[in-house]
Amino acid sequence: MSHTASAMGRRWSFSIGTVKGTAVRIHATFFLLLLWVGIGGWATGGPTAALHIITLICLVFFCVVLHEFGHIFAARRFGVRTPEVVLLPIGGVSRLERIPEEPRAEFVIAIAGPLVTLAIALGLLLVLGRMPSAEEIQLGGGVQGMIAQLAYINLFLFLFNLIPAFPMDGGRVLRAGLSAWLGHSQGTRVAAGIGQFCAILLGVAGIFSSNIILVLIAVFVYFAAGSETGIVALRDITAGKTARESMIDNFVRLQASDPVATAASTLIHSDQGEFPVLDHHGHLVGFLTRDGIIHALAGPGPDTPIGQVMLDIPQVSQWTRMDEIIPMLASGTKAVGVAADDGLCLGYITWENLMEELLISRALKRRKAESFPAGAHPGH
Ligand SMILES: [Zn+2]
Repeated sequence: MSHTASAMGRRWSFSIGTVKGTAVRIHATFFLLLLWVGIGGWATGGPTAALHIITLICLVFFCVVLHEFGHIFAARRFGVRTPEVVLLPIGGVSRLERIPEEPRAEFVIAIAGPLVTLAIALGLLLVLGRMPSAEEIQLGGGVQGMIAQLAYINLFLFLFNLIPAFPMDGGRVLRAGLSAWLGHSQGTRVAAGIGQFCAILLGVAGIFSSNIILVLIAVFVYFAAGSETGIVALRDITAGKTARESMIDNFVRLQASDPVATAASTLIHSDQGEFPVLDHHGHLVGFLTRDGIIHALAGPGPDTPIGQVMLDIPQVSQWTRMDEIIPMLASGTKAVGVAADDGLCLGYITWENLMEELLISRALKRRKAESFPAGAHPGH
């Protein structure tokens, strides 16, 4: 999942219940969507139309939840838990603890959602007993019309989810297929390339049909595919490494009782942009970012203790493997603290410092590749 999507889901959402250990959360903007379509319905067809469209949207989202639980129950079969699923106006986002790299597992988990959606569509058509007419789908009067519309929307969602691009289910199905053949890294690269190509086609189609929503989806898909390759590249260079090998261990430490002014002055006099906050024993208690410092200066003021404005970050042991840490950072955590065996803070890992490691390793690879022909022609 990309940085922005998970940050969007977490804030402004609240739980409406828990099913077998998975909290179902609704994002506040979902109610804006209901309000929006309700007002639109009222304006065109009065209270009956408003009630119809609101009921339809709620039913569609119920179907989306069933789709997500298709993924969640499939993941459970492979021992992967899902702490929460968030409903956004653009659809559902299941936060799986991890996505198995084993192609068969990824395939089953990815395809389970669309299969649920297809089953709903076929079930509704069976209840209806016939194919709905185009007019019925547009007007959707009464219970019959509602069933027709719901069947049609689920059929559309089934096809939409199978677009072979990240973060759509089709992208994961494609990656699983390619990984079985090319391995996880190469499979992801090829799948992401195909996804970006699909995004460009989608964008062009959107521009020609003046459909702004299609263009926005295309842009989103294009960048999501790119970030998926980035994560795989990071996994490649950190494969087999532990937290202590990739952490920042040379840094300015701040104390929770220090005023924000101290942090601000450190920000000016060092090139560090973020600070682990320690207690006086040396245990990590929080994390302060550049943004946090600026906000605190503008808001509560320079005398505020850092402890009141710092963030909570997860902490891992120095022996934790990097492939467990990368998903934590990819899901939007600002940093991960690294602790010694006695619990004292040794360092921390941020997305930016992993990106630097990636750039360095790429540069070294390029040098190795180029030094060969250069050495072969000493006269040049
Ligand atoms: Zn899905």
